[in-house]
Amino acid sequence: MTKFKIFTLHKSPSRDFQFSYCSSATSPLALKSLRQRPEEPQQSSIALPQTHNTESLCFDPRSFVSSLVQCQSHFQIKKVHALAITTAMIENLGVINKLIYIYAQHKAMADAYFLFFRMKERDNVSWSVIIGGFSKVGDNYNCLKTFKEFLLSGLPMDNYTLPFALRACRDTLSPNTDARKVFDKMPKRDLVTWTVMISCYAECGSPEESMALFDRMKDNGIVPDKVSMVTVVFACAKLGAMHKAKMIRDYIWRRKFSLDVILGTAMIDMYAKCGSVDAAREIFDQMKEKNVISWSSMISAYGVHGRGREALQLFPQMLQSGIRPNRITFVSILSACSHSGLIEEGRQFFNSMERDYFVESDVKHYTCMVDLLGRAGRLDEVLELTERMKVDKDEGFWGAILGACRIHGHIGLAEKAAKNLLELGPRNSGYYVLLSNIYANAGKWEEVAKVRQMMTGRGVKKTPGWTWIEINNKLYQFIVGDKSHPQFKEIYEMLKLLVERLELAGYVPDTNFVLHDIDEELKAEFLYTHSEKLAIAFALIATAEDSAIRMTKNLRICGDCHTFIKMVSNIVQRNIVVRDSIRFHHFSNGSCSCGDYW
Ligand code: ZN
Ligand code: ZN
Repeated sequence: MTKFKIFTLHKSPSRDFQFSYCSSATSPLALKSLRQRPEEPQQSSIALPQTHNTESLCFDPRSFVSSLVQCQSHFQIKKVHALAITTAMIENLGVINKLIYIYAQHKAMADAYFLFFRMKERDNVSWSVIIGGFSKVGDNYNCLKTFKEFLLSGLPMDNYTLPFALRACRDTLSPNTDARKVFDKMPKRDLVTWTVMISCYAECGSPEESMALFDRMKDNGIVPDKVSMVTVVFACAKLGAMHKAKMIRDYIWRRKFSLDVILGTAMIDMYAKCGSVDAAREIFDQMKEKNVISWSSMISAYGVHGRGREALQLFPQMLQSGIRPNRITFVSILSACSHSGLIEEGRQFFNSMERDYFVESDVKHYTCMVDLLGRAGRLDEVLELTERMKVDKDEGFWGAILGACRIHGHIGLAEKAAKNLLELGPRNSGYYVLLSNIYANAGKWEEVAKVRQMMTGRGVKKTPGWTWIEINNKLYQFIVGDKSHPQFKEIYEMLKLLVERLELAGYVPDTNFVLHDIDEELKAEFLYTHSEKLAIAFALIATAEDSAIRMTKNLRICGDCHTFIKMVSNIVQRNIVVRDSIRFHHFSNGSCSCGDYW
């Protein structure tokens, strides 16, 4: 029983293991009952391992492993497991590892962990399969916990285990901690390890580190293959740095990588996210072979840049080339309509997707429709759509409704969305902030307090916002109130000057975007130091007067920064392009391509 107690410690808060199976496989009584279970299906037609010599009962581990591979059900695995116990094959490390792996593949993590827990000796494979198993079922808590235990086990990290471990842990691992320490200490790293580490950084939100690592990998004499190139392209897309994108493209050309569907499509996405939809189109046109994802990516690229008409023009061309649209294509199409306010077109596509193209609409398509109708202030239609839809609604859907209510202030609908959203218990702090803003605008201060309490109670932390800006081929990162830049004094002086000029032109800080119990003056000061404002001030100091300013923000741009940048684009007569987590904003002459809806 003590073992179970320890096991309970590993239990994820969100997941309940079925302990009933844990003990069953090991006791003879349980084995007997297992054989006799009447409700189990009679489908165990797998070839159970045979002895080579029936007299001495000598089983072969390899035949056990191959029997395990054939297992189609949990029951079949149990049968082989039971046989492994009775024949003592369970003592064989390879057999146990395979059993753990097969249990994990069938998402029976309780059985997998029980076996793992009782192992007298574990090798890298054992650790890899258990960590990979927790990752597969989405149990990040136990995944990370086991990975940390592995680090403490003293087993050497090798090129086989690390990719597994990193891939499994990248949702929860900060790249600056355990994974990196292990990586740096590895005596020998191969292409796979480098690639996984690069991908890990990109996934964990540090794409700049991915890019640095890619340079280091080349310096170490490792030649990237197609897979690692796609990973780097993906990292660069996350980063959104144009000059890096060009460097990668040059490298790809120099190394003569062929522009196949996968690499080409990744490059379309990279260029679009780095701010140049035209460069993305060039790649698209150069690709000899395109699949539905390539077309959808190109449609989406036009969409996020607010070039909805061009996005829609691609659709008939795609049909002509013989490619059938899928659900991703329609998400791209509908969100392109939404970003450009093409309401009628969006409606037509939404209505025709099932009827004409046999693509069932899912929650993502409904979310696009909410965005589209919400932008036009047609909240009654949104309400009607919400009641009519039969698919399950998720965080993103209710979040889109909240977004629509933020602009058009439909408190009834907002509360409906809020109720559902909070029941889903989102980890995204943005929703709590949005909700709190809506309540604040409606003067419902008690509700504001409740939302904040809930946020604290659930341990939701505000994701720290940052802005990347690329100046003279160098990347600079700013966080709110950042004073780490060597020229920070000049930056703050420039910001002060800007604010003064903006205030003369009628700018009033919108303190609704600050979720802090501080007085108005301090709120305004806090707003002034938002990362995108600092980045703009720096760009005005460090760049030529007529050049465009490009930056990437990791979160949705706040309403105050949006107004601020619009006015700056007018006062300094510069084009400013901001990519936020939702779309691109092209600011010029005092207005934005998003039409103030995002
Ligand atoms: Zn802001
Ligand atoms: Zn905008």
